[in-house]
Amino acid sequence: MPVSEPASTLEAQVLRALDTVQDPELRRPITELGMLKGVTVDPSGAVRVEVLLTIAGCPLRGTITTDVENALAAVPGVSSVAVGLDVMTPEQRDALKDRLRGGDPVRTIPFNRPGSLTRVYAVASGKGGVGKSSVTVNLAAAMAAAGLRVGIVDADVHGFSVPGLLGITRPPTRVDEMILPPVAYGIKTISIGMFVEGNQPVAWRGPMLHRALEQFLTDVYFGDLDVLFLDLPPGTGDIAISVGQLLPGSEILLVTTPQSAAADVAERAGSVAKQTGQKVAGVIENMSWLALPGGERLEVFGSGGGAAVSGRLTGTLGYPVPLLGSIPLDVALREGGDGGRPVALDGLESLACDDAASGGTAAGTAAAELRRIARNLAHRPRGLAGRNLGVSPA
Ligand code: ADP
Repeated sequence: MPVSEPASTLEAQVLRALDTVQDPELRRPITELGMLKGVTVDPSGAVRVEVLLTIAGCPLRGTITTDVENALAAVPGVSSVAVGLDVMTPEQRDALKDRLRGGDPVRTIPFNRPGSLTRVYAVASGKGGVGKSSVTVNLAAAMAAAGLRVGIVDADVHGFSVPGLLGITRPPTRVDEMILPPVAYGIKTISIGMFVEGNQPVAWRGPMLHRALEQFLTDVYFGDLDVLFLDLPPGTGDIAISVGQLLPGSEILLVTTPQSAAADVAERAGSVAKQTGQKVAGVIENMSWLALPGGERLEVFGSGGGAAVSGRLTGTLGYPVPLLGSIPLDVALREGGDGGRPVALDGLESLACDDAASGGTAAGTAAAELRRIARNLAHRPRGLAGRNLGVSPA
């Protein structure tokens, strides 16, 4: 039998192992969040860990317990692990919230702080059904899989579909007024759909929508994000204007089909950017073609819509609005959506870390194109063209 370690060293190892346990929603180590109430290490190697949950009945208590057990099981010299759960006092919760907010005053939109490095993309379309939500979740999933910290606000109040597309059924956890978004595929996600009963329609008007969006942006704890996506309702409605007001630094991604009617309304949605002072980062054409078994491409919805919107907006807005990509119709994309697993993740494990040069099996599929677009968006330089710098006359 190996000689057992002195308790002090074992204790240090146990604490180091606990540093690796993250709160599943906050995505920070429990040791950093004040969630560790106490640890006792017996000379025989029996460890008892007391964890403080943020709220009573925390839905992820089982996950935290298992994560602690697994982390400690890997420490040599630990003979048994017992995890006790307790709940934070209001003072401890306040301290936690303070820590999460980085000491900032209570209700601000973190993405507007000077020096915020989060890139905010508002995904818009002229009309519904063009694949705006599918594109949003797939770009987000591809970026998260590439190691970026990503969040989605599903602001499509009348057609919220993001939770379903990501397979999220769990409601967000509330820590007093702070809302912790569920995480799926590494994406922190919040949706109006998580706050309504069943599948009821939301019959909210402008001011209520504005307040709901403002609350999402101030009260939902996203932590440090590299990219935040907002899935907007189709058209040029109130929410698009609210986003311009609440997140003036956000950029717009326009999704259209190749059809000229869809392109016309998409162009109008893009022109709203001129009023709100936002930049249009680019256009994504979806449902561009269907690959036939013989290899030909059937252009089900015609062709040229994406290029047309890109060209016309470049003219109207006075800076280049690129066509970022063209995504084919692909049964796998629809199936992935229905199954709650973004198609952009398909086959990722088996691909080399970068399939850009893609002679790979995924070439020509919706998944490959979505990943290519995500990669280009993640690496776009930040430009000021089209931004409202607050210096022009009203
Ligand atoms: P929107 O958000 O614009 O209303 P959705 O993302 O909800 O659109 O897409 C509408 C429907 O079209 C969904 O059933 C989705 O699975 C399907 N869909 C979207 N893009 C594609 C595509 N490229 N290939 C196949 N089906 C698609």
